[in-house]
Amino acid sequence: MVRVRFAPSPTGYLHIGGSRTSLFNWLYARAKQGKFILRIEDTDKARSKKEFLDEILESLRWLGMEWDELYFQSQRFALYKEYAQKLLDKGLAYREGEAIIFKVVPQKIKINDLIHGEIEFDATTIKDQVLIKSDGTPTYNFACVVDDALMQITHVIRGDDHISNTPKQVMLYQVLGFPLPQFAHIPLILGKAGGRLSKRTGAVAISEYRKAGYLAEALVNFLMLLGWSPGNNQEIITLKEAINRFDITQVNKTAAIFDLEKLNWLNNYYIKHTEPQRLRELVIPLLVDAGLVDKANLDKEYVLKILKLFQPRLNNLKDFCAWADFFFKKEIEIEPAAKEKFLAVDKSAEFKLFLEKLAALEDFNPLSIEEAFRNLVRELNIESRSLIHPLRVALTGKTVGPGLFEVIYYLGLERTKQRLSKWIK
Ligand code: GLU
Repeated sequence: MVRVRFAPSPTGYLHIGGSRTSLFNWLYARAKQGKFILRIEDTDKARSKKEFLDEILESLRWLGMEWDELYFQSQRFALYKEYAQKLLDKGLAYREGEAIIFKVVPQKIKINDLIHGEIEFDATTIKDQVLIKSDGTPTYNFACVVDDALMQITHVIRGDDHISNTPKQVMLYQVLGFPLPQFAHIPLILGKAGGRLSKRTGAVAISEYRKAGYLAEALVNFLMLLGWSPGNNQEIITLKEAINRFDITQVNKTAAIFDLEKLNWLNNYYIKHTEPQRLRELVIPLLVDAGLVDKANLDKEYVLKILKLFQPRLNNLKDFCAWADFFFKKEIEIEPAAKEKFLAVDKSAEFKLFLEKLAALEDFNPLSIEEAFRNLVRELNIESRSLIHPLRVALTGKTVGPGLFEVIYYLGLERTKQRLSKWIK
């Protein structure tokens, strides 16, 4: 039976790289009807924080990667000592003060990596390895091997950055008499301009993406494509479908490129295809946070209507708060450049006439509003644009947004009057 593990250290938040490693493990486990084990590598007591642990667990759950077993290395110190003692007893390790050190035997080590193929290491330069530090805590390499062996991990799927640890670990498997697992080292993720991912290029916590209004299914889809492809240029793929198609041996050897535009494109796709009612539930907390709505007296129907207006264009739900703010604010702010460009010329007469026409409408709806507008520009013999842009800026504070007549309709006659009156001298 396939048993894989994701082994994060709770010394930081879950990032793109870690969640992708976790996802490939999870997918492989589900594809092979095996087990996905979550192992918290919290041996460093000073740097491990509950806050990070909570964020990691919550983000994994949010992304849909439920684990079958959960272990904490901090609860297993006695085991690591026991195995270190075995090596001491056999004369394969020695003490140096309180520390226990592994005597490395110079040799060449070969592994057959499922992604990279055969890798040969010249381990003749590897120095003796600390197994247990003088403070009693195990080193990463030692705890990792003891755990992978005792947890019967069949496939060690992890980032490329651990390739250099592999020969050290293989030597430990050998002296401990444990069978070797298969190794699969997945490629690094680089920024679009090359180089490591930085905060600016996307290396932010998964929880930050969540807060910015990315949908879990979009993020998961995005992560899948970082080093793997379902083939046929297919880019939209759900977690469920990926389970049937995923194969760890088909993961790329070369670095994956993090492309925020692609994430935005995927998120836009999933937003477009999500039930508005579900989106509304996701967007309400963001609106509350942004101070745009009051939780206590919230017009959920109104939120839904406005959301639908913006739904096709949203790259993330936070954009909604920024783009649709004028529907929720009492006083709007006008972008200075927009004011300069479209409201510098006095539109008093036109605004006044337009308001009169709106007030006279029997039925106030986007179509009748449009008709009123068209009639006015015809009567005044002016171009539509000369009025449409000033109206939009005066009503929304922005130069772009949904169709103007829908904007007026959803703002309602009262608010339209209020906002235009400001510009009537
Ligand atoms: N705790 C290690 C890390 O976060 C795990 C490495 C491994 O998978 O072996 O990088």
